[in-house]
Amino acid sequence: MMICWLALAALVIYLFWRFPQLRKTWYLPKRKGLIALMYHHVGVLNDPQDEQYPFTVRPDMLERQILYLKANGYTPISLAELEQAKRTSKSSVKKPVLLTFDDGYRDNYENLFPLLKKYNIPALIFLITDRIDSPNYMTWEQIKEMSASGLVDFGSHTCSHRRLRSLSDDEIVQELTRSKQILEENLGAAVTAFCYPYGAGGFDKRVRPQVFKAGYLFDFSTKKGVNPWPWKGKSTLRRAFPRGGETLFDYHLQLTRGQSKL
Ligand SMILES: [Zn+2]
Repeated sequence: MMICWLALAALVIYLFWRFPQLRKTWYLPKRKGLIALMYHHVGVLNDPQDEQYPFTVRPDMLERQILYLKANGYTPISLAELEQAKRTSKSSVKKPVLLTFDDGYRDNYENLFPLLKKYNIPALIFLITDRIDSPNYMTWEQIKEMSASGLVDFGSHTCSHRRLRSLSDDEIVQELTRSKQILEENLGAAVTAFCYPYGAGGFDKRVRPQVFKAGYLFDFSTKKGVNPWPWKGKSTLRRAFPRGGETLFDYHLQLTRGQSKL
């Protein structure tokens, strides 16, 4: 009997080693809660070797993902609905999904915004304030138009997109408060969401309290997973990461496990 189990384990390990496409999270238990999806570029990039490839979701794929959400009973929520859930500790929203986009690339205006309007879906975009109005990034005019539509909220992704952990206390405060102030002055509304540049190590015990001291209510990381719903705001918000080139099955895994592969 023991030999059988060992042989089975060896077979599974061999198959995972031999076929990387099997290394997906289908065997993890499904989890309910708030799925925050992390996107970057929305555009067409055909070279899988390009370093931006995983960060670039094609517009037609994003549209299929939106249709998948609708067909499967997911509810795209806005930042206001997240705020309300935190304030009241309750929400009637079932299967909530929050679409977030990092860095403020110009293709978000060109390729994402038409889809948000077509399907009346809210989104949250994190801007790097020093890069606004520069090539490849959105202009203030575009940002204001998206904001005025009522579909797009904007959060801060710092001024300069440096790794906060490696900065001095004063520099961290500057990155957090100056970006918030610039966004609020231009958008005429409170900016409550913040997103750490770089991976799960983009923050630590020294950085995180400064985010709240600066007046933010929500901090988004690249830690993968599903968030408790209603959101009570104890930890950073985890995000699922639909990569460029992924299939709708991967998307299903993102939505039910918070990640598509290990
Ligand atoms: Zn970023």
